[in-house]
Amino acid sequence: MNDKPLILVIDDEEAMRDSCTQILVKHGFRVETAPDGQSGLEKAASLKPDLALIDLKMPGISGLDVLNKIKEIDSEIISIVITGYATVESAVEAMKRGAYDFLPKPFTPEELRIIIRRALERRELAREAEKLKREKKLLEENFITLVSHQLRSPLIAIQQYFETILGGYAGEMSPQIKDMMLRAKERIKDLLQLINDWLDLARINRQELVTRFKPVGLQALLQKQIETFMPLAKESSITINLEREASSDTVMADEQSLEQALANIIHNAIKYNRPGGKVIIRLWEKNSSLAIDIEDTGIGIPPEHLPHIFDQFYRVPLTGRGMTKGTGLGLSIAKKIIEAHDGRIEVKSVPNKGSTFTVILPLARTP
Ligand code: ADP
Repeated sequence: MNDKPLILVIDDEEAMRDSCTQILVKHGFRVETAPDGQSGLEKAASLKPDLALIDLKMPGISGLDVLNKIKEIDSEIISIVITGYATVESAVEAMKRGAYDFLPKPFTPEELRIIIRRALERRELAREAEKLKREKKLLEENFITLVSHQLRSPLIAIQQYFETILGGYAGEMSPQIKDMMLRAKERIKDLLQLINDWLDLARINRQELVTRFKPVGLQALLQKQIETFMPLAKESSITINLEREASSDTVMADEQSLEQALANIIHNAIKYNRPGGKVIIRLWEKNSSLAIDIEDTGIGIPPEHLPHIFDQFYRVPLTGRGMTKGTGLGLSIAKKIIEAHDGRIEVKSVPNKGSTFTVILPLARTP
């Protein structure tokens, strides 16, 4: 393995090839040369240089074509074009086609050295960034596997034991022990909920969601959610109403994810409401977008907490405001899903009066 960067000089002028070779070898680079585009491309394919120095004006295959083809051979090869004064426009064209930089003739050895060093440094940084991105992704994937297998599986097994014991299958137990077992079971349920929510959040991936996009009618989706949440709302005598003001209600969406995002917000509108309160869901058009208001008459959110409620694990302290269970992940999940749909979520809230969450999604274009 040779650490010295390899530079391929493609130029029809022998004097230019020789002078570049002399300068670059002196500065510690390996150099290969080619007198025309065709042999340049052959060398690029077989030697995979780090950088190609390409004369724009050559007989045969033009410098611009060589530039394009080198990108196809290996997108990591950096290209710098050498231009005569008369070809500044082509230099601009070359930059548009992905050349890293251009070097007008005549140039000094120092100019050549600097431009090549800079290009190689940039490439190194880009490679480093790419490597870090790959490592981060791997780490995330490993973490997801760890959480789902090492944490979730034993908890499910424990939950199973609790069911058996509490079902009386392991013998009699005193009321005190039973009470403790019930509380422990409840805590395990909460912990599992937290792990499941966290896994949901970690798994949301825009690229994957987009592959499942199809036209989804929001009215039907919201109606279904209302039916699902009605029993919970009734427990606190809360009413839920759907008002439609939009003529079209179709968005491009991954239905299951969008359902989850809206369910989290509707669930909150019930959870943080007051007994006998109201939830109003309003579907309306805003320019070329669809907006869904989810309005409640609940406890509201103090202004100092509003900027943080979409943060992971953030919960507004409930001192003196009753008790609710939650993981602090519901809104983070909703926001991530909505943003993966090119939408956004906004909130307005008045403490002790209520909150309105507005989800804005691009309207599906009708053919
Ligand atoms: P949680 O599991 O705690 O409900 P969320 O991420 O869904 O987590 O919400 C974060 C916090 O935002 C909640 O703990 C609550 O304090 C506040 N919140 C969310 N929705 C509402 C609402 N409709 N009314 C009042 N507070 C809300």
